Amino acid sequence: MAEISIRGLQKSYRKKEKGTMQEIPILKKIDLDIHDGEFMVLVGPSGCGKSTLLRCIAGLEDITGGELSLDGRRINDVAPKDRDVAMVFQSYALYPHWTVRDNMGFSLSIRKVAKEEIDAKVEEAARMLELSHLLDRFPKELSGGQRQRVAIGRAIVRKPKVFLFDEPLSNLDANLRAQMRLELKKLHQTLGVTMIYVTHDQIEAMTLADRICVLEGGYARQVDPPLTIYDRPVSRFVAEFIGSPPMNFLTVTKKNATLCGEGVSLTLNEPQQKLSLPQRMILGVRPHHLSLQGQGDASVKATVDVIETVGWDLHLHCLCDGKPIIAQVEAAKAKGVKPGDTIGFYVDPAEIRLFDESSEDALLGEQP
Ligand code: ADP
Repeated sequence: MAEISIRGLQKSYRKKEKGTMQEIPILKKIDLDIHDGEFMVLVGPSGCGKSTLLRCIAGLEDITGGELSLDGRRINDVAPKDRDVAMVFQSYALYPHWTVRDNMGFSLSIRKVAKEEIDAKVEEAARMLELSHLLDRFPKELSGGQRQRVAIGRAIVRKPKVFLFDEPLSNLDANLRAQMRLELKKLHQTLGVTMIYVTHDQIEAMTLADRICVLEGGYARQVDPPLTIYDRPVSRFVAEFIGSPPMNFLTVTKKNATLCGEGVSLTLNEPQQKLSLPQRMILGVRPHHLSLQGQGDASVKATVDVIETVGWDLHLHCLCDGKPIIAQVEAAKAKGVKPGDTIGFYVDPAEIRLFDESSEDALLGEQP
């Protein structure tokens, strides 16, 4: 069992500003429950407080307010080594003059575990991570991916209740990142333990998480499974952060059952027409929900600016009354389309999101 409960967690740093000490709030009353065996990803832009939250859970930072508990036990003041959590850092943090075997067994040797037991646990972890043939090498004799696997192996041998990962793949090149991402997912399936993973990479968040917590400026904005975050973002910020290419936003005005403005002329479906909506809103539409069609009764009219060939699909960078949007369309369906063309897209009204113009919160909620 390893359930983490975070209640009203606050963290601030003291900083000297204009000659006086100021409290700078970093985490602002975060509530988050992480279930037993769950892969929870903390995601958000740089500086939003992800690492600070992870470090508070690890005990590497004191918390300023709130409650932190693991399996019902309050751990606010418990020392990091007694929390039964293991952290894997972006920088690997391996001892350069020790072999892989010694690096992996370190936490057990300081606990005076018998040598045979350490060897058995290190070898088991090494097998799991395909490191068995590298146990007598030194870190400098390993590739970046192998070093990160050693860092993960060092966490595994401790058999912690919770694994904490702080951007563990950031130092790897794109191919290796994708490979290690898959290995981490497999590792989670094999071990079935609670993992909390910090990243600013929304692809990692989408592919790894059971649930994602999106942070913005020290607030937890949405905590949901990846597809709920993708399909039902609670705000423009979440909608823009998750999904690549990002969601398009156009300002529209409601006239009876139709949304108009910035190249848009879209009739709401019947359930949407019954909702009480403001007169002006921000319309959000994902790039793959823009389907090419004739201009006749197009939902969105745009002028093609730049075409990016991706492979099976294309990214059409267009302008709608001067506002940039991206459409992701099947290459075969966009034959003959060239920069400067005026084109029309069909958008299924069931796929749109609407956001309040000033608060930027989602308006439709459980939109039909
Ligand atoms: P993230 O991981 O989301 O990029 P961090 O949690 O590392 O963000 O940092 C959040 C904010 O807290 C940043 O503005 C950072 O400058 C600030 N911060 C982090 N650690 C300290 C510290 N030890 N002292 C003062 N400010 C800090």
